[in-house]
Amino acid sequence: MSHSQFNPPGPQLLKDIKDVVGDAGWKNLEDAPRHLDDPRGRFMGRGCLVVLPDSTEQVAAIVRLCDTARVGVVPYSGGTGVVAGQLSIDTDNAIIMSLERMNKVRQVLLDDNVIVAEAGCILENVHAAAQQHGMMFPLSMASKGSCCIGGNLATNAGGIQVLRYGNMRDLCLGIEAVLPNGAILSELSPLHKNNTGYDLRHLLIGSEGTLGVITAASLMLRPVDPETATAFLAIRSPAHALKIYNEIKGHLGDAVSALELMSGLGLELVASAFPALRNPFEPGCEWALLLEATGPLGIGDRLQSALAGCLDKELLVDAIVAHSQSQRNSLWDLRENTPEANRMAGAFCNSDTSVPISRVDAFISDTAKAICEIHPDVRINSYGHIGDGNIHHNVMPPAGMTKAELVASNPGIVDAVRMAINEVSHRHGGSISAEHGIGRLKTRDLETFAGKARYDTIRRIKLALDPNNIMNPGALID
Ligand SMILES: Cc1cc2nc3c(=O)[nH]c(=O)nc-3n(C[C@H](O)[C@H](O)[C@H](O)COP(=O)(O)OP(=O)(O)OC[C@H]3O[C@@H](n4cnc5c(N)ncnc54)[C@H](O)[C@@H]3O)c2cc1C
Repeated sequence: MSHSQFNPPGPQLLKDIKDVVGDAGWKNLEDAPRHLDDPRGRFMGRGCLVVLPDSTEQVAAIVRLCDTARVGVVPYSGGTGVVAGQLSIDTDNAIIMSLERMNKVRQVLLDDNVIVAEAGCILENVHAAAQQHGMMFPLSMASKGSCCIGGNLATNAGGIQVLRYGNMRDLCLGIEAVLPNGAILSELSPLHKNNTGYDLRHLLIGSEGTLGVITAASLMLRPVDPETATAFLAIRSPAHALKIYNEIKGHLGDAVSALELMSGLGLELVASAFPALRNPFEPGCEWALLLEATGPLGIGDRLQSALAGCLDKELLVDAIVAHSQSQRNSLWDLRENTPEANRMAGAFCNSDTSVPISRVDAFISDTAKAICEIHPDVRINSYGHIGDGNIHHNVMPPAGMTKAELVASNPGIVDAVRMAINEVSHRHGGSISAEHGIGRLKTRDLETFAGKARYDTIRRIKLALDPNNIMNPGALID
């Protein structure tokens, strides 16, 4: 299954595809720079045509044409994927299929607590549509203004509220997709129970565009809780974060919806990259925890008394509680601008690893040790969704040195650091990709760490459903 077996698309195929979508439905690559861009600036996408279907039938017709001609299709939604799954990085032979014109909310079914959204709906627009009906859609992440439902499903996105509401897989009741042979799988009915054989919805979720093009989904809505309480806590170690979480659960039950770890270095980086944002803690604060709980009126008071208990037990160094939406936004701005601050500081490794929650503290310290053995002076910003065990280690050159200088003077450091993090994660029973997927960046890593039974089964499923290997060739498995 390598790229080389793909036929380059001939002029007749390109004409047939353009006829399916009409003049408004395609772009040459030079007119579509956005579709070639990597959010982390490491890759440059390639391809021969960007096609923009506006209906499921058009998607199906194009996939059928490509399957017959054995030409690769790379599905593209918001383009915020960080593992190059949406980019054809080493062949011009692929058709880039952007779902951006399929951006309608088809239905809001209030009795079913469901919103039926097309794949090209921007996540933030789905939030707004839910809000118009007094409901909320819980999936949320810093890329919410650009990423889309199709990409969220294809990557089984996680984000900041997995702790309470689960990831995209847990929020999807039904799916519509075009399979690699062009057949339309129409399973949008929002059933909570449906034991009729293999769950194809779950096969497509997290498949990163390798088993079909997702065109729409029935997504679960939740009621909006009357009160939100947000606190920012200075703490001594990641182990304290988990102790605090357990303590607060004792008072608030499952009301905690977000628990985000930030490092002292991370806070410094955000504050220096975005001078309008202020690190509220004293210099020297080693770790911080952003905690949010939602629930009935009074949840804020209950959180405050739970935090007082944590102070008494010396689990906290300092605590700030937001008293308004604007204070809450300022705290979240510190967290949500962290990926950009890392990029600006020259991050050359952005891991997306998860371990069992009980192992997070050891995982963070063991990773730091392993990276220091490779280079003692690089800076490590370990942060992320600690409540579900998902820690992002961002590794940056020593202060005063650029990424290019570091890489030039330490050939191989990028791969060495990535593999060291993978190995520590694996040793702690973790995953090399918690929420971003494998894309084209981590295909070798998957082969190394998946285990033979898992890897062989993935290959066999791919071969069975996509025998001509037209769906996102080169992503997930090479
Ligand atoms: C600043 C920033 C913060 C982020 N934070 C998080 C976070 O907290 N949690 C998290 O999980 N991710 C995060 N991400 C990663 C990214 O936003 C998610 O992976 C997101 O789900 C990708 O959605 P997208 O629409 O941009 O997909 P794209 O980038 O367009 O595509 C991603 C993958 O899905 C496939 N795909 C796209 N559309 C379809 C479709 N319709 N059918 C089949 N396959 C398709 C593509 O081929 C590709 O493999 C972050 C990214 C950035 C830049």
